[in-house]
Amino acid sequence: MARKSLAAAYSTSHNTLRRLRGSAKNYCCVVCESPAYEWSLSAKAVRIYLGQSSPVNLSPYSRDIWDYEPKCLSCHRTEDRGAKEGIRIERR
Ligand SMILES: [Zn+2]
Repeated sequence: MARKSLAAAYSTSHNTLRRLRGSAKNYCCVVCESPAYEWSLSAKAVRIYLGQSSPVNLSPYSRDIWDYEPKCLSCHRTEDRGAKEGIRIERR
């Protein structure tokens, strides 16, 4: 199985994001301008891949760090609920 490489690809993209753009907590939420809490994959991201975000979870991610937006916890959760159906997954 490609389980290990899925996990590696997912964490590499997040490590790069944090290295180059820092913590999302240094930014304001792009939706409500409260202090941001975490990085959120933008709805505008064009190429979305599926990666292993934890031993039991597959999550969409992008290899382009500019596809991520800082969001506060409540805006991120609200958006995740809405995005589940429309998201396009590009298999590697
Ligand atoms: Zn917000």
